Amino acid sequence: TPMIRLSGVGKRYADGTVAVHDLDLEVGRGETLVLVGPSGCGKSTTLKMINRLIEPTTGTIEIDGRDVTGVDPVQLRRGIGYVIQQVGLFPHQKVVDNVMTVPVLVGTSRSQARSRAEELLAMVGLEPDVHGPRYPHQLSGGQRQRVGVARALAADPPLLLMDEPFGAVDPVVRVRLQEEFRELAQRLGTTVVMVTHDIDEAVRMGDRVAVFAEGGRLAQVGTPLDLLARP
Ligand code: ADP
Ligand code: ADP
Repeated sequence: TPMIRLSGVGKRYADGTVAVHDLDLEVGRGETLVLVGPSGCGKSTTLKMINRLIEPTTGTIEIDGRDVTGVDPVQLRRGIGYVIQQVGLFPHQKVVDNVMTVPVLVGTSRSQARSRAEELLAMVGLEPDVHGPRYPHQLSGGQRQRVGVARALAADPPLLLMDEPFGAVDPVVRVRLQEEFRELAQRLGTTVVMVTHDIDEAVRMGDRVAVFAEGGRLAQVGTPLDLLARP
């Protein structure tokens, strides 16, 4: 069974907007699938239907072969990492403590959680000694976003959903972050579904890329090489 299977999934919002239309899509275990396309074509809606922040109007979504409508949404989200552009870091906790929170909650020793947090901060291009002791408001937007990615990875989720995770990061750092993130996700075996409007980012990060078009329709799905071969 794939990690995620969407069958005939559609979303019509209350005002009649059809955000997603009859979507069939599978994501394999350990795979990174990137949803790419212009603004307003249903990428974020698709992502949010996977962790049930939004309920589909048609179709079914299975994770691990199990229909997600049968799972308590809170329970479901506990097993799914979620990174968005406006990361909600705890404002009264230092950066390093923000990253340690979940591991400590699930019983990792503080010293172990701390060294892992520092490793992850370095991975996302921050200096553990410099940025770790700061509070979120003392970082730039781009830096906060990187902390959000580190925090999501610290929980070691089998499945990670990311919506424009590197959106506020400057272009040079961004490429390095993309590459380092990809390496880490592969090493951890994390299944990743990521939304971006940046085709370069999609090609760089995706094992496969799903191209969305106007009206929440899937235009094509394939490996980056497939897509570059038939533009
Ligand atoms: P993307 O992530 O590709 O930019 P979205 O999934 O955010 O696209 O939005 C898809 C479409 O659904 C857009 O036309 C958007 O305006 C619309 N939409 C998103 N959220 C809502 C909502 N809560 N109510 C009505 N329409 C919405
Ligand atoms: P980015 O491209 O990462 O968003 P910014 O241009 O926002 O970067 O910030 C540049 C530098 O200013 C960063 O090194 C950041 O640490 C620092 N900085 C931004 N906001 C603050 C703040 N409120 N307090 C201290 N330093 C800050």
